[in-house]
Parts: sequence; C-alpha cells; structure tokens
Amino acid sequence: MNTAREAGFRLVTVVATQRISARMHRLRLAGENLLRFDTPANLHLRLHIPDAAQKTAARVGGREDITRYYTIRRIDAERGWIDVDFVLHEAAGPACDFARRARVGDVCGISGPCGLGVKPARDYLLAGDETALPAIARILETLPREARGTVLIETLDADGVCDLARPDGIDLCWFCRHQRGHDDFIAAAEKAISTLAGEAEDHFIWIAGEFSDCEALRPALKVTQKRRYINVAYWRATEAVR
Ligand SMILES: Cc1cc2nc3c(=O)[nH]c(=O)nc-3n(C[C@H](O)[C@H](O)[C@H](O)COP(=O)(O)OP(=O)(O)OC[C@H]3O[C@@H](n4cnc5c(N)ncnc54)[C@H](O)[C@@H]3O)c2cc1C
Repeated sequence: MNTAREAGFRLVTVVATQRISARMHRLRLAGENLLRFDTPANLHLRLHIPDAAQKTAARVGGREDITRYYTIRRIDAERGWIDVDFVLHEAAGPACDFARRARVGDVCGISGPCGLGVKPARDYLLAGDETALPAIARILETLPREARGTVLIETLDADGVCDLARPDGIDLCWFCRHQRGHDDFIAAAEKAISTLAGEAEDHFIWIAGEFSDCEALRPALKVTQKRRYINVAYWRATEAVR
C-alpha cells in the first residue's frame, strides 16, 4: 500500500456509467466525505487510475500513481457522488481507457480539489474544446442570471454539440472541426477577446483546451490585464494525434 497520500485522497466506486454523446462518457463516482470537493473555487480533481491489468485500486493513493486531471461536472456531497465526463479520444491513454472500460463496482481514487473557475464579472468569454466542456457547463450553471457574454466551444463534429443551461445574456457558438476547420475557432476566439476587452470594462475570460490552441491565443490576451483571464492547457496533442 502506498503511504504518501495526496491531499484529500479517497477511494471512490463507479456507481453508474452513461454515454452522453458519441465521444463523451460520464462516470458517477460514489464515496464518503465529499464535501471538500463541493466548491466553485476549485472545479477539478485528480483521478488516480488503477492498474488496468490488475483491475484493483488497492495500491492507488500515493504520489507515484498514474493521475490525470478531470472536472467535477456535478457533485452531490450529501448523497455522496461526483459526476465526471470523459472525452473518449482515439489515442490510448490510461484515463480514457479507464472510463471506456469502467463497470459499476470498479474502484479508483480521487484527490484535490484543485484549479480555478471564473472570477466575478459582468461580461464573460468562455472558450475551449471538448475537454473544457464539463467545466464550461458547470461554470454556466453558477453564473448570476444577469451575466452576459459569449461561449465558444470546439468539437470534432456535430455529434458533440449539446444544449447548455445558461443565463439569457450568454450566447453559445459551436465550432465543428470537420465542418468549419480549426482556424475558425481560433479566429473567433481572438475576435471575441478583442471585442470583450474593448467594450466591456468588467470582464473575465476563461480559456482551456489543447496546449497549442492556448498558446495561439496568448498574444490576443495582451489586450487585457492578467487578473481578468485564465488560459490553461488541459491536454497536449502529440504529433500522432493532431
Ligand atoms: C484542470 C483540468 C481539467 C480537465 N478536465 C477534463 C474533463 O472534465 N474531461 C476530459 O475529458 N478531459 C479533461 N481534462 C483533460 C485530460 O486530463 C487530458 O485529456 C488527459 O491527457 C487524458 O488522459 P489520458 O490518460 O486519457 O491520455 P494521456 O495518457 O494523457 O495521452 C495519451 C494520448 O492521447 C492524447 N490525448 C489526450 N487527451 C486527448 C484529447 N482530449 N483528445 C485527443 N487526444 C488526446 C495525447 O496527446 C496522447 O497522444 C482536464 C485537464 C485539466 C488540466
């Protein structure tokens, strides 16, 4: 058994699995004392992935674990569950693999919570790919009714498109890589950043997605102050993937 446990580490059990779109798979993870994970200030957790061959979580929980970051899409700490939405990407990876194979009763570990959401503002821009979708969906559910702004989401194709509960003043725009091409998303995000920073004094910009996309948007963010944005790479495409 590993002894150097991560902050907040606990074992959780898969109690439900649900395919929510062609490439997005939801696992409901049940565990005890989940209250510390129920905070809008920290939207994410670290998933500690059990050895696929052994299919056991007995050794999960130490600093040498295979871990990946995931967003807490929904949590009901009182009833003791957390929903996590996994993008089922093509290149094999332990987290995606775990989600794909998961059956009710399987056990994994979680620690945290960690990561930042949005800061209070009047106008927002939220932009990202499918890996950012769970966080964007959760953020939209917590914004005040009078919030205004734009959400830009890039998916592989139309199968990934879904409706998102959001304040009336927030526009939602989808970009399908197969239809409009990847450059459209970057161009739209650059334009939205410049418009928001130029027209809305009290704004906040939240961007997450693939590393090179986050890098591509970095110059555009120079029009605003650092305290008014978050731009975080959620994953990194290897040559084989991009
Ligand atoms: C704070 C934070 C929150 C996140 N929240 C979520 C979330 O809620 N849902 C979610 O699905 N992801 C989320 N991610 C992204 C997720 O952690 C990564 O995609 C991670 O690399 C997946 O691990 P893996 O073991 O499946 O693949 P890895 O072992 O990391 O990578 C294996 C291969 O798959 C490729 N790859 C990895 N991710 C993707 C992808 N999304 N699309 C295409 N190819 C990919 C890699 O380039 C590599 O070639 C989040 C990341 C961060 C930092």
